[in-house]
Amino acid sequence: MKTASLSIASNAAELQRRLQETRAGRASIGFVPTMGALHAGHGALIRRARNENDLVAVSIFVNPLQFDRKTDLDAYPRNLDADVAFCAGLGADLIYAPAPADLYPREQLSFVDLPALEQHLCGRFRPGHFRGVATVVLKLLNIVQPRRAYFGEKDAQQLAIVRRMVEDLNVPVQIVPVTTVREPDGLALSSRNVRLTPPQRAIAPKLYRALQTAADLFSAGTKSVGAARAKAIADLISEPAIKLEYFEVCDPLNLQPLSGVHDSALIAGAVFFGEIRLIDNFLWRRV
Ligand code: AMP
Repeated sequence: MKTASLSIASNAAELQRRLQETRAGRASIGFVPTMGALHAGHGALIRRARNENDLVAVSIFVNPLQFDRKTDLDAYPRNLDADVAFCAGLGADLIYAPAPADLYPREQLSFVDLPALEQHLCGRFRPGHFRGVATVVLKLLNIVQPRRAYFGEKDAQQLAIVRRMVEDLNVPVQIVPVTTVREPDGLALSSRNVRLTPPQRAIAPKLYRALQTAADLFSAGTKSVGAARAKAIADLISEPAIKLEYFEVCDPLNLQPLSGVHDSALIAGAVFFGEIRLIDNFLWRRV
């Protein structure tokens, strides 16, 4: 299928036929893996890829392997037509939108696991999630073979895991991190935000504010993570409509929890508004 200059491949063979011509011409491929329901956060990745490469490929695939609950997988928003129009508007060249059977024609027996990085933050509450993420990302990188792949800092643990996987397994790709895109009130853009009720939406920026409170305390000289954390989450935990899943301060590279901060720290949190789970993080650096 082709819309204007945007091609859509629904299986790996079709995608690779299109990419072969590009590789023969030594053009660089920038790759943006997504699960669809695209918004301006994804848009920032696609734009960056557009600026830095000859050809931009976007994958749209809701990966069953990374969902611990089938109800979540079924509830994930899907709107391929709107996503295609969004990508076309940003000048992408190629969309890879496979069916699950194209990526998983047989039972998957090989997995990528980074237990040391998976046991913290979100991974602690979502067993098997990052194994599913790392495995599908490696599969997609092998299919697309891009020069650069773009990942949002919004999903800091995912970014850390993908970076380490690429390094450990010598995957020939450059991983490019992209700054989190936020609403004017600080809420990180997410496909889940549309599911928030107006009262939930009104208090949703409290997560980002808590991250900033901790960062401000570190900048002002607080060394103790315990002290900063207690102050930072006070406003979050006093809000009955918010259920705090975690709020942690850790090493940005190995994600090990820190008890005291020095030059940099990843401050990360996850909260529930009813069934809706939102995550956010802030990379603090001493200036
Ligand atoms: P997803 O479709 O949720 O798997 O996200 C696809 C990519 O978009 C991931 O690399 C995310 O980190 C990135 N992303 C999602 N939301 C944002 C945002 N608000 N700002 C920047 N990148 C984002």
